Amino acid sequence: MNGSSLKDQKEVDIDIRQVFEQLKNNQFKVANYDLRQRKSRLDQLQQTILNFREKIKDALYRDFQKHAFEVDLTEIYPVISEIKQAKRNLRRWMGHHPVSTPISLLGSRSRIHYEPKGIVLIISPWNFPVTLTLGPLVSAIAAGNTVILKPSEQTPAATAVMQEIIELVFPPEEVVLIPGGVETSRKLLSLPFNHIFFTGSSKVGKIIMESAAKNLASVTLELGGKSPTIIDASANIRQAARRIIWAKFINCGQICIAPDHIYVQETVSREFIATLKQYLNQYFGNDAREEPSYARLVNHSHYERLVEYLENALKNGASIEYGGNMSQPEKYIEPTILTGTSPESLLMNEEIFGPLLPVIPFSDMDELVHILNKKEKPLASYIYSKSNKNIKKLIESTRSGAICINHSGIHFYNSNLPFGGSNFSGIGKAHGWFGFQAFSNARAVYNQIIPGPLEILIPPYNKIKQRVLDFAIKYL
Ligand code: NAD
Repeated sequence: MNGSSLKDQKEVDIDIRQVFEQLKNNQFKVANYDLRQRKSRLDQLQQTILNFREKIKDALYRDFQKHAFEVDLTEIYPVISEIKQAKRNLRRWMGHHPVSTPISLLGSRSRIHYEPKGIVLIISPWNFPVTLTLGPLVSAIAAGNTVILKPSEQTPAATAVMQEIIELVFPPEEVVLIPGGVETSRKLLSLPFNHIFFTGSSKVGKIIMESAAKNLASVTLELGGKSPTIIDASANIRQAARRIIWAKFINCGQICIAPDHIYVQETVSREFIATLKQYLNQYFGNDAREEPSYARLVNHSHYERLVEYLENALKNGASIEYGGNMSQPEKYIEPTILTGTSPESLLMNEEIFGPLLPVIPFSDMDELVHILNKKEKPLASYIYSKSNKNIKKLIESTRSGAICINHSGIHFYNSNLPFGGSNFSGIGKAHGWFGFQAFSNARAVYNQIIPGPLEILIPPYNKIKQRVLDFAIKYL
Protein backbone atom coordinates (compact mmCIF):
# COMPACT_ATOMS: atom_id res chain seq x y z
CA MET A 1 0.00 0.00 0.00
CA ASN A 2 1.49 3.41 -0.88
CA GLY A 3 1.54 6.46 1.40
CA SER A 4 -1.56 8.18 0.05
CA SER A 5 -3.81 5.10 0.18
CA LEU A 6 -2.67 4.52 3.77
CA LYS A 7 -3.78 8.06 4.53
CA ASP A 8 -7.15 7.43 2.79
CA GLN A 9 -7.60 4.35 4.89
CA LYS A 10 -7.02 6.29 8.10
CA GLU A 11 -9.48 8.96 7.05
CA VAL A 12 -12.13 6.32 6.45
CA ASP A 13 -11.39 4.96 9.92
CA ILE A 14 -11.82 8.37 11.50
CA ASP A 15 -15.05 8.99 9.59
CA ILE A 16 -16.61 5.73 10.67
CA ARG A 17 -15.67 6.28 14.29
CA GLN A 18 -16.97 9.86 14.12
CA VAL A 19 -20.25 8.73 12.61
CA PHE A 20 -20.54 6.10 15.31
CA GLU A 21 -19.88 8.61 18.13
CA GLN A 22 -22.39 11.05 16.68
CA LEU A 23 -25.11 8.38 16.58
CA LYS A 24 -24.18 7.10 20.01
CA ASN A 25 -24.37 10.59 21.53
CA ASN A 26 -27.79 11.09 19.99
CA GLN A 27 -29.29 7.76 21.03
CA PHE A 28 -31.29 9.01 24.02
CA LYS A 29 -32.85 11.83 22.04
CA VAL A 30 -34.04 9.36 19.38
CA ALA A 31 -35.09 6.86 22.04
CA ASN A 32 -37.33 9.49 23.60
CA TYR A 33 -39.18 10.29 20.37
CA ASP A 34 -42.86 9.85 21.07
CA LEU A 35 -45.33 7.86 18.99
CA ARG A 36 -46.07 10.77 16.68
CA GLN A 37 -42.38 11.45 15.99
CA ARG A 38 -41.54 7.80 15.30
CA LYS A 39 -44.57 7.49 13.01
CA SER A 40 -43.59 10.64 11.20
CA ARG A 41 -40.15 9.16 10.37
CA LEU A 42 -41.87 6.02 9.08
CA ASP A 43 -44.24 8.15 6.99
CA GLN A 44 -41.34 10.07 5.48
CA LEU A 45 -39.50 6.84 4.70
CA GLN A 46 -42.60 5.37 3.05
CA GLN A 47 -43.23 8.45 0.93
CA THR A 48 -39.60 8.76 -0.15
CA ILE A 49 -39.40 5.09 -1.17
CA LEU A 50 -42.54 5.59 -3.25
CA ASN A 51 -41.08 8.75 -4.80
CA PHE A 52 -37.94 6.76 -5.67
CA ARG A 53 -39.81 3.73 -7.01
CA GLU A 54 -38.65 4.18 -10.61
CA LYS A 55 -35.08 4.96 -9.54
CA ILE A 56 -35.00 1.77 -7.46
CA LYS A 57 -36.23 -0.27 -10.42
CA ASP A 58 -33.64 1.30 -12.63
CA ALA A 59 -30.86 0.59 -10.10
CA LEU A 60 -31.77 -3.06 -9.74
CA TYR A 61 -31.91 -3.52 -13.48
CA ARG A 62 -28.38 -2.14 -13.64
CA ASP A 63 -27.22 -4.38 -10.79
CA PHE A 64 -28.50 -7.72 -12.10
CA GLN A 65 -31.14 -7.15 -14.71
CA LYS A 66 -33.95 -7.61 -12.21
CA HIS A 67 -37.35 -7.11 -13.83
CA ALA A 68 -39.32 -4.02 -12.74
CA PHE A 69 -42.31 -6.15 -11.74
CA GLU A 70 -40.12 -8.27 -9.46
CA VAL A 71 -38.72 -5.09 -7.91
CA ASP A 72 -42.24 -4.00 -7.01
CA LEU A 73 -43.11 -7.47 -5.74
CA THR A 74 -39.97 -8.29 -3.77
CA GLU A 75 -38.34 -4.95 -2.89
CA ILE A 76 -40.95 -2.18 -2.75
CA TYR A 77 -44.05 -4.03 -1.51
CA PRO A 78 -42.37 -5.88 1.42
CA VAL A 79 -40.80 -2.68 2.79
CA ILE A 80 -43.96 -0.61 2.38
CA SER A 81 -45.98 -3.34 4.02
CA GLU A 82 -43.47 -3.57 6.90
CA ILE A 83 -43.80 0.21 7.40
CA LYS A 84 -47.61 0.04 7.39
CA GLN A 85 -47.58 -2.85 9.86
CA ALA A 86 -45.27 -0.89 12.19
CA LYS A 87 -47.40 2.26 11.98
CA ARG A 88 -50.59 0.32 12.72
CA ASN A 89 -49.13 -1.37 15.81
CA LEU A 90 -46.57 1.09 17.14
CA ARG A 91 -48.80 2.49 19.89
CA ARG A 92 -49.23 -1.01 21.36
CA TRP A 93 -45.59 -2.03 20.83
CA MET A 94 -44.25 1.16 22.48
CA GLY A 95 -46.80 1.08 25.28
CA HIS A 96 -46.70 -0.64 28.63
CA HIS A 97 -47.10 -4.41 28.56
CA PRO A 98 -48.55 -5.33 31.96
CA VAL A 99 -47.89 -8.83 33.29
CA SER A 100 -49.76 -10.62 36.06
CA THR A 101 -48.54 -10.65 39.67
CA PRO A 102 -48.12 -13.85 41.70
CA ILE A 103 -49.88 -13.89 45.09
CA SER A 104 -46.51 -13.93 46.85
CA LEU A 105 -45.85 -10.47 45.40
CA LEU A 106 -49.22 -8.94 46.28
CA GLY A 107 -48.99 -5.20 46.63
CA SER A 108 -46.86 -4.80 43.50
CA ARG A 109 -47.42 -4.20 39.80
CA SER A 110 -45.18 -5.38 36.97
CA ARG A 111 -44.87 -4.54 33.33
CA ILE A 112 -42.48 -4.86 30.42
CA HIS A 113 -41.16 -1.82 28.68
CA TYR A 114 -39.56 -2.36 25.27
CA GLU A 115 -36.73 0.15 25.30
CA PRO A 116 -34.44 0.67 22.30
CA LYS A 117 -31.14 -1.20 22.34
CA GLY A 118 -29.29 2.02 21.50
CA ILE A 119 -27.01 2.20 18.47
CA VAL A 120 -27.41 -0.67 16.04
CA LEU A 121 -25.66 -1.93 12.92
CA ILE A 122 -27.52 -3.50 9.99
CA ILE A 123 -25.37 -5.42 7.48
CA SER A 124 -27.25 -6.68 4.45
CA PRO A 125 -26.68 -8.91 1.40
CA TRP A 126 -27.18 -8.17 -2.28
CA ASN A 127 -29.92 -10.57 -3.30
CA PHE A 128 -32.83 -8.38 -2.14
CA PRO A 129 -30.76 -5.29 -1.40
CA VAL A 130 -33.63 -2.90 -0.68
CA THR A 131 -35.89 -5.25 1.27
CA LEU A 132 -33.08 -6.65 3.39
CA THR A 133 -31.63 -3.22 4.20
CA LEU A 134 -34.70 -1.03 4.61
CA GLY A 135 -36.92 -3.79 6.07
CA PRO A 136 -34.80 -4.22 9.23
CA LEU A 137 -34.35 -0.43 9.30
CA VAL A 138 -38.13 -0.08 9.75
CA SER A 139 -38.01 -2.31 12.86
CA ALA A 140 -34.92 -0.53 14.18
CA ILE A 141 -36.38 2.99 13.96
CA ALA A 142 -39.82 1.85 15.11
CA ALA A 143 -38.03 0.58 18.22
CA GLY A 144 -36.27 3.95 18.67
CA ASN A 145 -32.63 3.19 17.79
CA THR A 146 -29.96 5.13 15.97
CA VAL A 147 -28.70 3.10 13.01
CA ILE A 148 -25.76 2.48 10.70
CA LEU A 149 -26.62 0.59 7.51
CA LYS A 150 -23.94 -1.31 5.58
CA PRO A 151 -25.46 -2.76 2.40
CA SER A 152 -23.65 -5.13 0.06
CA GLU A 153 -20.88 -3.97 -2.23
CA GLN A 154 -22.21 -6.36 -4.92
CA THR A 155 -25.20 -4.15 -5.78
CA PRO A 156 -23.69 -0.65 -6.01
CA ALA A 157 -26.59 0.96 -7.89
CA ALA A 158 -29.09 -0.16 -5.23
CA THR A 159 -26.74 1.08 -2.50
CA ALA A 160 -26.44 4.51 -4.15
CA VAL A 161 -30.20 4.98 -4.44
CA MET A 162 -30.75 3.83 -0.84
CA GLN A 163 -28.11 6.30 0.33
CA GLU A 164 -30.04 9.10 -1.40
CA ILE A 165 -33.23 7.99 0.34
CA ILE A 166 -31.60 7.78 3.77
CA GLU A 167 -29.97 11.19 3.43
CA LEU A 168 -33.30 12.74 2.47
CA VAL A 169 -35.29 11.15 5.29
CA PHE A 170 -32.94 11.06 8.28
CA PRO A 171 -30.60 13.60 9.86
CA PRO A 172 -27.03 12.20 10.03
CA GLU A 173 -27.24 11.85 13.81
CA GLU A 174 -30.12 9.34 13.45
CA VAL A 175 -29.46 6.99 10.52
CA VAL A 176 -26.41 6.77 8.26
CA LEU A 177 -25.74 4.48 5.33
CA ILE A 178 -22.07 3.61 4.87
CA PRO A 179 -21.30 1.99 1.52
CA GLY A 180 -18.39 -0.42 1.34
CA GLY A 181 -17.26 -4.01 1.26
CA VAL A 182 -15.64 -6.46 3.63
CA GLU A 183 -13.04 -3.98 4.92
CA THR A 184 -15.70 -1.41 5.84
CA SER A 185 -17.75 -4.17 7.43
CA ARG A 186 -14.78 -5.24 9.55
CA LYS A 187 -14.15 -1.70 10.75
CA LEU A 188 -17.77 -1.31 11.71
CA LEU A 189 -17.71 -4.64 13.51
CA SER A 190 -14.85 -3.47 15.72
CA LEU A 191 -17.11 -0.77 17.22
CA PRO A 192 -19.20 -1.40 20.36
CA PHE A 193 -22.69 -1.48 18.83
CA ASN A 194 -25.57 -2.49 21.10
CA HIS A 195 -27.04 -4.81 18.48
CA ILE A 196 -25.95 -6.20 15.13
CA PHE A 197 -28.58 -7.35 12.65
CA PHE A 198 -26.88 -9.34 9.91
CA THR A 199 -28.40 -10.92 6.83
CA GLY A 200 -26.05 -13.03 4.72
CA SER A 201 -24.26 -16.34 4.51
CA SER A 202 -23.75 -18.71 7.45
CA LYS A 203 -19.99 -18.46 6.86
CA VAL A 204 -19.93 -14.69 7.41
CA GLY A 205 -22.57 -15.05 10.16
CA LYS A 206 -19.97 -16.83 12.29
CA ILE A 207 -17.52 -13.92 11.79
CA ILE A 208 -20.25 -11.46 12.81
CA MET A 209 -21.06 -13.40 15.97
CA GLU A 210 -17.40 -13.64 16.90
CA SER A 211 -16.95 -9.87 16.50
CA ALA A 212 -20.14 -9.13 18.42
CA ALA A 213 -18.91 -11.32 21.28
CA LYS A 214 -15.97 -8.96 21.86
CA ASN A 215 -18.44 -6.22 22.86
CA LEU A 216 -21.15 -8.59 24.09
CA ALA A 217 -23.45 -7.05 21.49
CA SER A 218 -26.62 -9.00 20.86
CA VAL A 219 -27.10 -10.34 17.34
CA THR A 220 -29.83 -11.25 14.93
CA LEU A 221 -28.42 -13.51 12.24
CA GLU A 222 -30.58 -14.08 9.17
CA LEU A 223 -28.58 -16.73 7.33
CA GLY A 224 -28.89 -19.12 4.43
CA GLY A 225 -29.21 -22.84 4.04
CA LYS A 226 -30.73 -25.56 1.94
CA SER A 227 -34.53 -25.42 2.16
CA PRO A 228 -35.92 -28.83 1.15
CA THR A 229 -39.24 -29.25 -0.66
CA ILE A 230 -41.26 -32.43 -0.34
CA ILE A 231 -43.94 -33.56 -2.76
CA ASP A 232 -45.82 -36.67 -1.79
CA ALA A 233 -48.04 -38.85 -3.95
CA SER A 234 -51.21 -37.10 -2.75
CA ALA A 235 -50.08 -33.63 -3.86
CA ASN A 236 -51.71 -31.52 -6.54
CA ILE A 237 -48.80 -31.85 -8.96
CA ARG A 238 -49.73 -28.98 -11.28
CA GLN A 239 -50.12 -26.59 -8.37
CA ALA A 240 -46.85 -27.76 -6.80
CA ALA A 241 -44.94 -27.33 -10.08
CA ARG A 242 -46.30 -23.80 -10.66
CA ARG A 243 -45.59 -22.58 -7.14
CA ILE A 244 -42.13 -24.16 -7.00
CA ILE A 245 -41.11 -22.55 -10.29
CA TRP A 246 -42.24 -19.18 -8.96
CA ALA A 247 -40.31 -19.54 -5.69
CA LYS A 248 -37.21 -21.06 -7.27
CA PHE A 249 -36.59 -19.00 -10.40
CA ILE A 250 -37.68 -15.52 -9.36
CA ASN A 251 -34.50 -13.42 -8.82
CA CYS A 252 -32.72 -16.11 -10.88
CA GLY A 253 -32.85 -18.46 -7.90
CA GLN A 254 -30.80 -16.12 -5.69
CA ILE A 255 -33.17 -16.37 -2.75
CA CYS A 256 -32.42 -17.52 0.78
CA ILE A 257 -35.81 -19.27 1.06
CA ALA A 258 -35.90 -20.72 -2.47
CA PRO A 259 -36.73 -24.43 -2.67
CA ASP A 260 -33.12 -25.63 -2.75
CA HIS A 261 -33.88 -29.18 -3.86
CA ILE A 262 -36.98 -31.33 -4.29
CA TYR A 263 -37.84 -34.72 -2.81
CA VAL A 264 -40.71 -36.20 -4.79
CA GLN A 265 -42.44 -39.49 -4.05
CA GLU A 266 -41.23 -41.88 -6.76
CA THR A 267 -44.73 -42.86 -7.94
CA VAL A 268 -45.36 -39.26 -9.11
CA SER A 269 -41.81 -38.26 -9.92
CA ARG A 270 -42.02 -38.56 -13.75
CA GLU A 271 -45.34 -36.72 -13.80
CA PHE A 272 -43.88 -33.95 -11.64
CA ILE A 273 -40.80 -33.49 -13.85
CA ALA A 274 -42.93 -33.45 -17.01
CA THR A 275 -45.20 -30.80 -15.44
CA LEU A 276 -42.21 -28.70 -14.36
CA LYS A 277 -40.91 -28.73 -17.96
CA GLN A 278 -44.30 -27.77 -19.32
CA TYR A 279 -44.62 -24.75 -17.01
CA LEU A 280 -41.00 -23.70 -17.47
CA ASN A 281 -41.65 -23.53 -21.22
CA GLN A 282 -44.82 -21.62 -20.62
CA TYR A 283 -43.21 -19.09 -18.23
CA PHE A 284 -39.82 -18.53 -19.85
CA GLY A 285 -40.36 -19.67 -23.47
CA ASN A 286 -37.83 -21.69 -25.44
CA ASP A 287 -34.99 -19.40 -24.47
CA ALA A 288 -35.10 -17.85 -20.98
CA ARG A 289 -32.30 -15.50 -22.04
CA GLU A 290 -34.83 -13.65 -24.20
CA GLU A 291 -37.44 -13.45 -21.46
CA PRO A 292 -37.18 -10.05 -19.73
CA SER A 293 -38.60 -11.36 -16.44
CA TYR A 294 -35.61 -13.68 -15.98
CA ALA A 295 -32.78 -12.00 -14.03
CA ARG A 296 -29.03 -12.66 -14.19
CA LEU A 297 -26.52 -13.87 -11.62
CA VAL A 298 -25.13 -10.98 -9.66
CA ASN A 299 -21.46 -11.44 -10.53
CA HIS A 300 -18.93 -13.72 -12.22
CA SER A 301 -17.85 -15.37 -9.03
CA HIS A 302 -21.41 -16.63 -8.38
CA TYR A 303 -21.65 -17.70 -12.03
CA GLU A 304 -18.40 -19.70 -11.74
CA ARG A 305 -19.54 -21.21 -8.43
CA LEU A 306 -22.76 -22.52 -10.02
CA VAL A 307 -20.95 -23.84 -13.08
CA GLU A 308 -18.65 -25.72 -10.72
CA TYR A 309 -21.65 -27.21 -8.85
CA LEU A 310 -23.23 -28.26 -12.15
CA GLU A 311 -20.05 -29.84 -13.52
CA ASN A 312 -19.42 -31.59 -10.23
CA ALA A 313 -22.98 -32.98 -10.20
CA LEU A 314 -22.68 -34.25 -13.78
CA LYS A 315 -19.32 -35.85 -13.00
CA ASN A 316 -20.99 -37.63 -10.07
CA GLY A 317 -23.69 -39.15 -12.25
CA ALA A 318 -26.42 -36.49 -12.48
CA SER A 319 -28.30 -35.77 -15.71
CA ILE A 320 -29.89 -32.60 -16.97
CA GLU A 321 -33.64 -33.01 -17.43
CA TYR A 322 -34.23 -29.45 -18.53
CA GLY A 323 -32.06 -26.42 -19.30
CA GLY A 324 -28.32 -26.39 -18.78
CA ASN A 325 -27.58 -23.57 -21.25
CA MET A 326 -25.35 -20.81 -19.98
CA SER A 327 -23.37 -17.78 -21.07
CA GLN A 328 -20.36 -16.56 -19.12
CA PRO A 329 -20.27 -12.95 -20.42
CA GLU A 330 -23.96 -12.49 -19.62
CA LYS A 331 -23.76 -14.29 -16.24
CA TYR A 332 -26.72 -16.28 -17.50
CA ILE A 333 -27.72 -19.79 -16.47
CA GLU A 334 -30.96 -21.22 -17.78
CA PRO A 335 -33.51 -22.65 -15.31
CA THR A 336 -32.09 -26.15 -14.96
CA ILE A 337 -33.62 -29.35 -13.59
CA LEU A 338 -31.32 -32.21 -12.60
CA THR A 339 -31.96 -35.80 -11.62
CA GLY A 340 -29.62 -38.48 -10.32
CA THR A 341 -27.61 -36.05 -8.17
CA SER A 342 -25.34 -37.93 -5.81
CA PRO A 343 -25.72 -37.10 -2.08
CA GLU A 344 -21.96 -36.44 -2.08
CA SER A 345 -22.08 -33.81 -4.83
CA LEU A 346 -21.55 -30.11 -4.09
CA LEU A 347 -25.09 -29.43 -5.27
CA MET A 348 -26.48 -31.53 -2.43
CA ASN A 349 -24.16 -30.13 0.23
CA GLU A 350 -23.73 -26.42 -0.46
CA GLU A 351 -26.51 -23.82 -0.57
CA ILE A 352 -27.35 -23.62 -4.31
CA PHE A 353 -28.52 -19.99 -4.44
CA GLY A 354 -29.09 -20.04 -8.19
CA PRO A 355 -31.31 -21.55 -10.91
CA LEU A 356 -30.23 -25.20 -10.52
CA LEU A 357 -32.88 -27.55 -9.14
CA PRO A 358 -32.11 -31.16 -8.21
CA VAL A 359 -35.13 -33.46 -8.07
CA ILE A 360 -34.67 -36.59 -5.94
CA PRO A 361 -37.23 -39.42 -5.74
CA PHE A 362 -38.08 -40.96 -2.38
CA SER A 363 -40.30 -43.88 -1.41
CA ASP A 364 -40.89 -43.73 2.32
CA MET A 365 -41.74 -40.67 4.43
CA ASP A 366 -40.02 -42.02 7.58
CA GLU A 367 -36.81 -42.57 5.65
CA LEU A 368 -37.02 -39.07 4.24
CA VAL A 369 -37.52 -37.55 7.71
CA HIS A 370 -34.39 -39.40 8.80
CA ILE A 371 -32.41 -37.93 5.86
CA LEU A 372 -33.70 -34.41 6.59
CA ASN A 373 -32.76 -34.61 10.26
CA LYS A 374 -29.18 -35.58 9.45
CA LYS A 375 -28.68 -32.13 7.86
CA GLU A 376 -28.42 -28.67 9.43
CA LYS A 377 -31.78 -27.05 10.22
CA PRO A 378 -32.87 -25.16 7.09
CA LEU A 379 -34.32 -21.66 6.90
CA ALA A 380 -37.58 -23.14 5.58
CA SER A 381 -39.07 -26.44 4.55
CA TYR A 382 -41.95 -26.97 2.17
CA ILE A 383 -44.43 -29.78 1.74
CA TYR A 384 -46.94 -30.26 -1.05
CA SER A 385 -49.49 -32.80 0.11
CA LYS A 386 -53.14 -33.51 0.81
CA SER A 387 -52.19 -36.03 3.49
CA ASN A 388 -52.66 -34.60 6.98
CA LYS A 389 -50.61 -37.49 8.31
CA ASN A 390 -47.58 -36.57 6.19
CA ILE A 391 -47.95 -32.85 6.90
CA LYS A 392 -48.18 -33.54 10.65
CA LYS A 393 -45.16 -35.83 10.47
CA LEU A 394 -43.05 -33.18 8.78
CA ILE A 395 -44.12 -30.50 11.27
CA GLU A 396 -43.58 -32.68 14.33
CA SER A 397 -40.53 -34.72 13.35
CA THR A 398 -38.30 -32.17 11.61
CA ARG A 399 -36.92 -28.71 12.40
CA SER A 400 -36.61 -25.51 10.35
CA GLY A 401 -37.06 -21.74 10.67
CA ALA A 402 -40.44 -21.95 8.92
CA ILE A 403 -42.63 -24.50 7.24
CA CYS A 404 -45.00 -23.82 4.34
CA ILE A 405 -47.72 -26.24 3.40
CA ASN A 406 -48.65 -26.30 -0.28
CA HIS A 407 -46.58 -23.21 -1.11
CA SER A 408 -42.97 -22.04 -1.05
CA GLY A 409 -41.39 -18.82 0.14
CA ILE A 410 -44.72 -17.03 0.53
CA HIS A 411 -44.54 -16.96 4.34
CA PHE A 412 -42.04 -14.09 3.98
CA TYR A 413 -45.00 -11.84 3.13
CA ASN A 414 -46.92 -12.40 6.34
CA SER A 415 -45.41 -9.88 8.78
CA ASN A 416 -47.44 -11.42 11.61
CA LEU A 417 -45.15 -14.45 11.41
CA PRO A 418 -41.60 -14.46 12.76
CA PHE A 419 -39.06 -14.65 9.96
CA GLY A 420 -35.72 -16.34 10.54
CA GLY A 421 -33.85 -19.59 10.88
CA SER A 422 -32.55 -21.79 13.62
CA ASN A 423 -28.85 -22.37 14.42
CA PHE A 424 -27.05 -22.72 11.04
CA SER A 425 -29.86 -20.91 9.24
CA GLY A 426 -30.05 -18.12 11.79
CA ILE A 427 -30.48 -16.77 15.29
CA GLY A 428 -33.35 -14.45 16.22
CA LYS A 429 -36.33 -13.30 14.20
CA ALA A 430 -37.35 -10.41 11.97
CA HIS A 431 -40.58 -8.76 10.72
CA GLY A 432 -43.35 -6.90 12.49
CA TRP A 433 -43.55 -7.39 16.24
CA PHE A 434 -40.62 -9.87 16.11
CA GLY A 435 -38.42 -7.29 14.37
CA PHE A 436 -39.41 -4.65 16.92
CA GLN A 437 -38.42 -7.04 19.71
CA ALA A 438 -35.10 -7.84 18.02
CA PHE A 439 -34.14 -4.16 18.28
CA SER A 440 -35.51 -3.70 21.82
CA ASN A 441 -34.48 -4.65 25.31
CA ALA A 442 -37.48 -6.09 27.13
CA ARG A 443 -36.97 -4.18 30.37
CA ALA A 444 -38.70 -5.54 33.45
CA VAL A 445 -40.39 -2.79 35.45
CA TYR A 446 -41.44 -3.88 38.96
CA ASN A 447 -43.21 -1.43 41.25
CA GLN A 448 -43.87 -2.20 44.94
CA ILE A 449 -46.93 -0.11 45.73
CA ILE A 450 -47.88 -1.31 49.20
CA PRO A 451 -45.92 -3.67 51.48
CA GLY A 452 -46.32 -7.29 50.40
CA PRO A 453 -46.25 -10.65 52.22
CA LEU A 454 -42.53 -11.15 51.55
CA GLU A 455 -41.90 -8.15 53.77
CA ILE A 456 -42.06 -10.35 56.87
CA LEU A 457 -39.46 -12.82 55.64
CA ILE A 458 -36.49 -10.69 56.59
CA PRO A 459 -33.95 -11.77 59.27
CA PRO A 460 -33.89 -12.74 62.03
CA TYR A 461 -35.64 -15.92 60.93
CA ASN A 462 -37.91 -17.83 63.34
CA LYS A 463 -40.36 -20.72 63.37
CA ILE A 464 -43.37 -18.63 62.28
CA LYS A 465 -41.47 -17.25 59.30
CA GLN A 466 -40.37 -20.79 58.42
CA ARG A 467 -44.03 -21.90 58.46
CA VAL A 468 -45.04 -19.05 56.17
CA LEU A 469 -42.28 -20.09 53.79
CA ASP A 470 -43.30 -23.76 54.00
CA PHE A 471 -46.84 -22.72 53.12
CA ALA A 472 -45.59 -20.67 50.14
CA ILE A 473 -43.44 -23.53 48.85
CA LYS A 474 -46.35 -25.95 49.16
CA TYR A 475 -49.28 -23.88 47.93
CA LEU A 476 -48.21 -20.72 46.07
P1 NAD B 1 -22.38 -12.52 2.43
O1 NAD B 1 -22.44 -13.20 3.74
O2 NAD B 1 -21.23 -12.78 1.53
O3 NAD B 1 -22.41 -10.91 2.62
C1 NAD B 1 -23.38 -10.26 3.39
C2 NAD B 1 -22.80 -8.94 3.93
O4 NAD B 1 -21.68 -9.23 4.74
C3 NAD B 1 -22.34 -7.97 2.86
O5 NAD B 1 -22.76 -6.68 3.22
C4 NAD B 1 -20.83 -8.09 2.89
O6 NAD B 1 -20.16 -6.89 2.58
C5 NAD B 1 -20.55 -8.48 4.33
N1 NAD B 1 -19.38 -9.35 4.46
C6 NAD B 1 -18.96 -10.30 3.58
N2 NAD B 1 -17.85 -10.92 4.04
C7 NAD B 1 -17.57 -10.37 5.23
C8 NAD B 1 -16.54 -10.58 6.21
N3 NAD B 1 -15.60 -11.48 6.01
N4 NAD B 1 -16.55 -9.82 7.32
C9 NAD B 1 -17.51 -8.89 7.53
N5 NAD B 1 -18.50 -8.64 6.63
C10 NAD B 1 -18.54 -9.36 5.51
O7 NAD B 1 -23.77 -12.83 1.71
P2 NAD B 1 -24.26 -12.44 0.25
O8 NAD B 1 -23.48 -13.18 -0.76
O9 NAD B 1 -24.36 -10.96 0.13
O10 NAD B 1 -25.78 -13.01 0.29
C11 NAD B 1 -26.09 -14.33 0.09
C12 NAD B 1 -26.27 -15.10 1.37
O11 NAD B 1 -27.19 -14.44 2.22
C13 NAD B 1 -26.86 -16.49 1.14
O12 NAD B 1 -26.23 -17.41 1.97
C14 NAD B 1 -28.32 -16.31 1.53
O13 NAD B 1 -28.97 -17.50 1.92
C15 NAD B 1 -28.21 -15.35 2.65
N6 NAD B 1 -29.47 -14.63 2.82
C16 NAD B 1 -30.22 -14.86 3.94
C17 NAD B 1 -31.43 -14.21 4.08
C18 NAD B 1 -32.32 -14.42 5.28
O14 NAD B 1 -33.25 -13.63 5.46
N7 NAD B 1 -32.10 -15.41 6.12
C19 NAD B 1 -31.87 -13.33 3.09
C20 NAD B 1 -31.07 -13.13 1.98
C21 NAD B 1 -29.86 -13.77 1.86
